[in-house]
Amino acid sequence: MTKYPDREWRFSQEDWLKASRLTAGGVTFLLTLSASQFLQGRLLGISAASRAATFAGMLSVSTGSMLASLAADEAPATLSVALGWVPEKDRRRKGSVIDKRGSISSSTFSLLGYDAGKKEERLLGAARTALVGMLLFKGLGGRFSGVAPSNVAQPGAFFNVRGTLPAGLEYASPKQKRRLDMFGWVYGCHTCGRRQMGDYVGDHMPPRKVAVEMSRRWWRRLLGIRVKQRFTPQCRPCSSIQSAAVRSDRRILVYHYLSLRRYHATGAVLEVVSLLPGQGMLDGLIHQNVEQVSAWWRRKGRAEGDWQRR
Ligand SMILES: [Zn+2]
Repeated sequence: MTKYPDREWRFSQEDWLKASRLTAGGVTFLLTLSASQFLQGRLLGISAASRAATFAGMLSVSTGSMLASLAADEAPATLSVALGWVPEKDRRRKGSVIDKRGSISSSTFSLLGYDAGKKEERLLGAARTALVGMLLFKGLGGRFSGVAPSNVAQPGAFFNVRGTLPAGLEYASPKQKRRLDMFGWVYGCHTCGRRQMGDYVGDHMPPRKVAVEMSRRWWRRLLGIRVKQRFTPQCRPCSSIQSAAVRSDRRILVYHYLSLRRYHATGAVLEVVSLLPGQGMLDGLIHQNVEQVSAWWRRKGRAEGDWQRR
């Protein structure tokens, strides 16, 4: 057996400050997306299949990224003051706090550029944060329209064409059902996002009644177009809500606050990006310029000296 050397591994103050940034950023982003889902559904009646859903989702993700960055900037100072590492009166500016070991808090690397001071630069920082946030969200597999709640009778927030099969008017065959169970395990119920081992219903999308009505439209009949349906995995609870909704011709939205995916971590990943060492290409892309940050660093270094003398 390998013997590991005894090493005391302790969370340093700087680590705590960084962790506070990640937590604040991650939680804030998640809360913004949940709030947006609620507002889109309850106030605006937007579902994942609505035309406005993509735009609403982009707005939510960019706002969420900026709020996450703001919260992350506040977190180290708040934590330092709360734990008594820094006296309240030394909480000089938003987000800027120097810890007792003389190192600058991780808020130096703020994407929002609080350190930049000038208004235009802060605005630029905010725009950059929104852009990087949206790229991360997409990169982590997010779909902007999927921020909205699902309409049970339409492709839901977790609908993914790759997880569907061509369908006729009849029910899914046992073989198709097995494949749909696998798709369900990978992508979740297309309406609520729930993942489970098997027991998915092969959901016709659009639903049969809707497809038949759509095919009856005069221009589709004239051109001889029959609406093509696909099977997509749906869990049993959502399936019965859908049957009720289609039968009674009611629009029912399903919310998916607890179905978390990788892209929900965008706020935390944004902070990981902003904590990367201040060198290299990424730095040039994300931080305004190194001189500015290092000048600020030196200035703060002096301020730290003053504080210790007191
Ligand atoms: Zn479901």
